Amino acid sequence: MSKKVTTKEEAPAEEPEKEEKKEEVKPQKAVKAAPKAEKKKKEERGVHALYKIEDAKVARLRPTCERCGPGYFMANHQNRYTCGHCGFTRYKQA
Ligand SMILES: [Zn+2]
Repeated sequence: MSKKVTTKEEAPAEEPEKEEKKEEVKPQKAVKAAPKAEKKKKEERGVHALYKIEDAKVARLRPTCERCGPGYFMANHQNRYTCGHCGFTRYKQA
């Protein structure tokens, strides 16, 4: 009878990985069905949307009101520009 000599490389005792499984199953609220049709909503962008920087120069993307002078941008509509300050309207040329 020969004893089997097993050479076990003694590996540094590894700490058993403690995996604390915290399974917090939150009751999911029933997700309501998405609204039928997503309305096209204009993004509120603020005044910075009216300016654009080109070559270290400020470009204004809307015309200014002729009556009120510089500083009064006109609203951009489909076929016209309108001043919200005085009501001046200028139609876009087709
Ligand atoms: Zn105006």
